[in-house]
Amino acid sequence: MAETSNLHIAVVGGGPGGYAAAFLAADLGMKVTLIDPEVNPGGVCLYRGCIPSKALLHVARLIEESHQAKNWGIEFSEPKIDIARLRSWKEGVVKKLTSGLGQLSKQRSVQFIQGRAGFESSNKLRVTKATGGDEVMTFDRIILATGSRPAVIPSLKIDSPRMMDSTGALDLKDIPKTLLVVGGGYIGLELGSVYAALGTRVTVVEMTAGLLPGADRDLVLPVHKRLEKAFEAILLNTTVASLKEEKAGIRATFEGKDVKEREKIFEKVLVSVGRKPNSEIAGLEKTRVQVNSRGFVQVNNQLQTEDPAIFAIGDLVGEPMLAHKASHEGRTAVEVIAGHKYTFEPNAIPAVVFTDPEVAWAGLTETQAQKEGREIKVAKFPWGASGRAITLDRTDGMTKLLIDPGTERVLGVGIVGPGAGELIAEGVLAIEMAALAGDLELTIHPHPTLSETIMEAAEVFYGTSTDVYRPKK
Ligand SMILES: Cc1cc2nc3c(=O)[nH]c(=O)nc-3n(C[C@H](O)[C@H](O)[C@H](O)COP(=O)(O)OP(=O)(O)OC[C@H]3O[C@@H](n4cnc5c(N)ncnc54)[C@H](O)[C@@H]3O)c2cc1C
Repeated sequence: MAETSNLHIAVVGGGPGGYAAAFLAADLGMKVTLIDPEVNPGGVCLYRGCIPSKALLHVARLIEESHQAKNWGIEFSEPKIDIARLRSWKEGVVKKLTSGLGQLSKQRSVQFIQGRAGFESSNKLRVTKATGGDEVMTFDRIILATGSRPAVIPSLKIDSPRMMDSTGALDLKDIPKTLLVVGGGYIGLELGSVYAALGTRVTVVEMTAGLLPGADRDLVLPVHKRLEKAFEAILLNTTVASLKEEKAGIRATFEGKDVKEREKIFEKVLVSVGRKPNSEIAGLEKTRVQVNSRGFVQVNNQLQTEDPAIFAIGDLVGEPMLAHKASHEGRTAVEVIAGHKYTFEPNAIPAVVFTDPEVAWAGLTETQAQKEGREIKVAKFPWGASGRAITLDRTDGMTKLLIDPGTERVLGVGIVGPGAGELIAEGVLAIEMAALAGDLELTIHPHPTLSETIMEAAEVFYGTSTDVYRPKK
């Protein structure tokens, strides 16, 4: 690629945004330096986010399923948990992936520097190396991909080994008897599910009226029902007013209109109340980069900041803070640097909550449509009518399509049920390809699979679903 081969770009931060950008830039012939404090690329997602949590959730699912097997005439004895082996298996998964990324960096001749970068000027970085020493390096373009960190509530911050954020919870130091999870968002529910499966009595406290704020309520309901059984308690409309360490544990006091028990002691507390962008980058004030009131670096739809030499991507630039959004932004920034006509304007960024059942959605949600007063048609296919769901003994799922009444175009897809995270990809493709409900209806899906529920939801839209009878009016 002649026109880009003499560009030297730096990528600051080696998460899914940063390494995707660095690798594409190298593939397009640019000289690339990737800087991250860890020994290999991977970022939050691989070291202390998506990957370790999903490895542990896989184990949680297995334990849950072994309990459910009683219903099918198969009884297992209670699992013996070797926490050290479980931890080392999870760490092995992380190591395999991150060292693989290290290899891929080498194969692509990406210069990977273990360290931290700050600005000297718009195109000069001071890199403080993990091995010691600083180096000032000049680049043609810099992509900021410094990601995010767990948010803290100052009034609930106490210095105690009993307190955990998501990183501490994933470390899996032990299996506490009781755990308070502050925050009913996806990270709290996923990690709470892991501990509950391992035998911890988990209490989740959520300030709003429902779990997973922002997600459609009908998608959340089956998860809520199942988690009610898995957890000791789900306290909605409740805030944690104070946390205080005592000999027996951490005493939490609760406030809110539905509160019955005002205080309780927990062995451990996990605070999962969202994430903050890492925009406090040393020397950023020496550039023209703008940071908004929520701490996100401001970019346009080509991921350009106010400074012509600097691009920014991933969690650092805004919601949704998800790995696949970061990677796509990273690749877009590189295409723009390469002079190609690219913008980041997706019609759908899928979101998946890896609880049991999983919840996934893409494109327009019903909540959003209601808020915007937008007219839509909703077609729902209950998994009770799915052959595959019945063979799995998991009829608690549901697949729904949000359809434009005029054009019959699929605007949004929502799925709750085991495997929803895999199934949603078809919904994303449908939305991006501007598929009509009729396209999904006429696409032959394999039988018996859960993917048929997408086709059948389209049939429901036309009132002709094979497996759902709708009486004639
Ligand atoms: C428990 C948990 C579970 C999650 N599960 C999922 C999931 O299932 N699916 C999903 O899509 N997302 C998930 N996420 C979110 C996902 O991890 C983030 O959206 C994603 O990692 C963001 O990627 P990024 O490239 O923007 O930054 P990050 O992955 O945050 O990486 C940024 C990197 O930059 C480094 N850095 C910061 N400052 C500097 C500096 N000055 N110099 C050099 N390096 C610097 C950081 O140390 C870090 O390594 C999860 C997050 C958590 C915490």
